[in-house]
Amino acid sequence: MKLILLGAPGAGKGSQGEIISKRLNVPIISTGNIIREAIRNETEVGKKAKAIVEAGKLLDDATVVAIVEERIKADDCKNGFIFDGFPRTIPQAEALDKMGVNIDKVVNIEVTDEEIMERLTNRRVCPKCGIPFHLINRRPKVEGICDACGAELIHRADDSAETVKDRLDAYHAQTEPLIDYYKAQGKLLSTNGSGSDIPVVTQRTLDALGI
Ligand code: AMP
Repeated sequence: MKLILLGAPGAGKGSQGEIISKRLNVPIISTGNIIREAIRNETEVGKKAKAIVEAGKLLDDATVVAIVEERIKADDCKNGFIFDGFPRTIPQAEALDKMGVNIDKVVNIEVTDEEIMERLTNRRVCPKCGIPFHLINRRPKVEGICDACGAELIHRADDSAETVKDRLDAYHAQTEPLIDYYKAQGKLLSTNGSGSDIPVVTQRTLDALGI
């Protein structure tokens, strides 16, 4: 199964993707995680991306499409994958179509901007495995430490209130048009992503997908 998780930053694509990925036994591909790793490793892409990511803007389509094209060639993608944070613009979606990638379903996870703001400003993430925690709703077992790998959790620079506002603006202007794009292809499902109980919210998505 090839799935796209659509929705604003902080809509729960990463946390829901974690669960769906285990259920379907296919990898979750987060372009945000790949780009952040490139920034940490100071690669060419990373150097170009740093200021853009910190400003809450989108990286250029050609760079992101090249990253994805390379990633989906890997062996673990042969039975499918879940995209988290890609495509984020109409040209990226068109590039995916041109590559001949046949997406089965696109899930639009709906959450209000107010709830997104509350989630992201309270979010702490593991820089190693990407798992998101929340200061109130999903506290790590040991404060400041990732449950899964023991790394020290961070507050992403782009999760500050000011940058979240810019990311939401980018989402509404550049990503939201994808809802109609995939509706026209007959692939769109919408789920209510509101709420803090991740398994409960994810169940709505699993039900919508019939898996
Ligand atoms: P995310 O973790 O998905 O919110 O991504 C973090 C940042 O990486 C975004 O704010 C963008 O700067 C960049 N990024 C991730 N995915 C994409 C994409 N598909 N197109 C453009 N920029 C992206």
